[in-house]
Amino acid sequence: MPSTPDATPVVPTDMPENAPRLVAFDLDGTLAPSKSPMPTRMATALRALLDVIPVCVISGGQIGQFRQQVLARLDARPDQLARLHLMPTCGTRYYTYNADDGDWTLVYANDLTPEQVAQGCAVVESEARRLGLWEEQTWGPALEDRGSQITFSALGQEAPLEAKQAWDPTGEKKGRLRDAVAARLPELEVRSGGSTSVDITRKGIDKAYGMRRLAEVTGIALEQMLFVGDRLDPDGNDYPVKAMGVTCQAVGTWEDTAAFVTDLAVRIAAGDRN
Ligand SMILES: [Mg+2]
Repeated sequence: MPSTPDATPVVPTDMPENAPRLVAFDLDGTLAPSKSPMPTRMATALRALLDVIPVCVISGGQIGQFRQQVLARLDARPDQLARLHLMPTCGTRYYTYNADDGDWTLVYANDLTPEQVAQGCAVVESEARRLGLWEEQTWGPALEDRGSQITFSALGQEAPLEAKQAWDPTGEKKGRLRDAVAARLPELEVRSGGSTSVDITRKGIDKAYGMRRLAEVTGIALEQMLFVGDRLDPDGNDYPVKAMGVTCQAVGTWEDTAAFVTDLAVRIAAGDRN
């Protein structure tokens, strides 16, 4: 039986007294460099955390990215994987580990309609061309239908990190495209995503939506969760989680996250022994 929830607000700096009951992480820029494999030191820290508490990874990326960036590097035992919750495409899809077949089970999917996909792709391309942001030379397709989300990546899905970082260092291009597309798709949600990307989902679908669904499926209250992300600024794709009042830990790089998680796992484990 789970223990009785503590009524005190979760304050990460005051742990272990107010330790969270679940920690959720953004992926790109938080657990790993953008679209890159999770480094060994981060994997080690995450396994230590999975030993003591449920963990969720929530990202605009799709399940394939979770497999390549996180699962292929995590090297976790089945009992650790059983405490891991995966929420690709901002929590519009939710996967849990199935110990019987050693694979990940899709628990729910909240997809766009085919009409919404067709319209969204057409509007993004026409606005990107109008603004001079449509690149003819890309690394893979610029537009991707991820089921529950359309993602525009200016330089293509497989663009190298350096090229992506150089394309729009201030986020100004992405912001202009986001605003132009949003004005033409009022019934859909349009957000700036990773370094070169703009994401389109159903209205009201963002990481805050994913966190609410996570609270539903786990039975753990949002007040007892901690979210860790690298884009908690008002223009960032992690901001909706902060805005809804979930306790957040801002990080600058995965190295920050690894240090924070290592310390957190130790403090939670110490609290468990008290
Ligand atoms: Mg991020």
